[in-house]
Amino acid sequence: MSPWSREFWRLALLLAMAGGMAALAGEPAWGLCAGLAVYLAWHLWQLRRLELWLAGRGKRLDDSRLDIWAEVAAQVLRIKRRSQKRKRRLSFILKQFLRSTAALPDGTVVLSADSRIVWFNQSAQRLLGLRAPQDNGQWVANLIRTPAFIRYLDRGNYDEAIEIVAAHDPERMLSLQIVPYGEDQRLLVIRDVTRERRLDQVRKDFVANASHELRTPLTVLSGYVETLLDEAEGEGDLAPWVVPLAAMREQTGRMEQLLADLLLLSRLDESPRAVLMRPVDLTLLLRRCCAEARRLAGEKVTIQAEIVDPLVLRGVEGELRSVFDNLLSNAVKYTPPGGTVHLEAGFVGEELQIAVTDTGIGIAPEHLPRLTERFYRVDGGRGRDQGGTGLGLAIVKHALQRHDAQLSIESRLGMGSRFLCRFPRDRVLAGSALSNCG
Ligand code: ADP
Repeated sequence: MSPWSREFWRLALLLAMAGGMAALAGEPAWGLCAGLAVYLAWHLWQLRRLELWLAGRGKRLDDSRLDIWAEVAAQVLRIKRRSQKRKRRLSFILKQFLRSTAALPDGTVVLSADSRIVWFNQSAQRLLGLRAPQDNGQWVANLIRTPAFIRYLDRGNYDEAIEIVAAHDPERMLSLQIVPYGEDQRLLVIRDVTRERRLDQVRKDFVANASHELRTPLTVLSGYVETLLDEAEGEGDLAPWVVPLAAMREQTGRMEQLLADLLLLSRLDESPRAVLMRPVDLTLLLRRCCAEARRLAGEKVTIQAEIVDPLVLRGVEGELRSVFDNLLSNAVKYTPPGGTVHLEAGFVGEELQIAVTDTGIGIAPEHLPRLTERFYRVDGGRGRDQGGTGLGLAIVKHALQRHDAQLSIESRLGMGSRFLCRFPRDRVLAGSALSNCG
């Protein structure tokens, strides 16, 4: 018999007995009330026992298989056991997770919505000099005080990592990136990039030194080639050497250009931001670049320009000159005869935008993301034939970055290209009306 049927029969028997006895005294209703009161008192007592047992202060209730209270207690016990099992499994998973993150070579710091430290692993302790458990609950900007990190934390855009020097060990370079997750939680991932940066520096030093060392012998070589070519062109004994000497002059010229570009790139590489910024008359500079491009293009390509006048920018004149010389000479190089190159400089919203647009051969979309890599050429042979070093756009990108500006490239094969340089407004010292000089 189930506990519920047993309970029903128990109540029926109790009421029958109490009612029967009271009926003998002529008051069956009082008998039924007394029976119900006894029944209620008994259940209240059982409820009290259940409460004491749940609080851990009473005897077990689930051993009697006879009544519904034992049944309820058994159910509670089953739920309790299940939740204990789940708790054990979760704490096992958590222990495993903590052990594995503790073993990670990268530092990991869990941050709350208000940028306080919730948890960190051993690598974070080692890399950032954090102390457990004192630093838990601390505001992260109190412990990593580097201004670049505080700006990064406030900016809220964590697409890219930043690099800082470790405060407790100036020899160590750290890469820090925040990864948002869950509801307002953030993970700060710290990587030791000291070795990578050192290798980078070795590579940069090597390129800079090799380019520098090669310059002198090359100058001597090209000087002799030039002299010999002059003589050969003068109908003397050297006359048969005109063609090979002209080819040698062209190649030494290319090598000089290559070394000049490599040296410029390594200078740009030295610091991510240009230090010596001065007011640069950009209108004049752009007009000069256009004049140079016209000289290069001759009759082949038309150069048009629309430039805001006056336009004064805080920057390094030489670097800005390289940017627009490279963009314009590329546009001329890669535009077939009869085409047009258009330079436009003006404000769009808060930004100063300078665009070089051509009606040239265009670039297939798969090449666009790699164009600013060093020595990347869409068509190696063609680029070289045009006298390119493959470093032009790398120089453009670096020089722009040093001026807080960005380069974006739009192009369609056979339809021409548009190279857009976007400078933030705070770089501009003066800027007003538009002037045409095409
Ligand atoms: P290069 O010295 O070879 O011109 P750059 O770094 O200046 O090297 O340019 C990289 C490559 O991008 C070039 O080889 C060329 O294929 C492509 N490119 C650059 N500018 C243009 C342009 N305006 N139109 C078409 N292709 C271009």
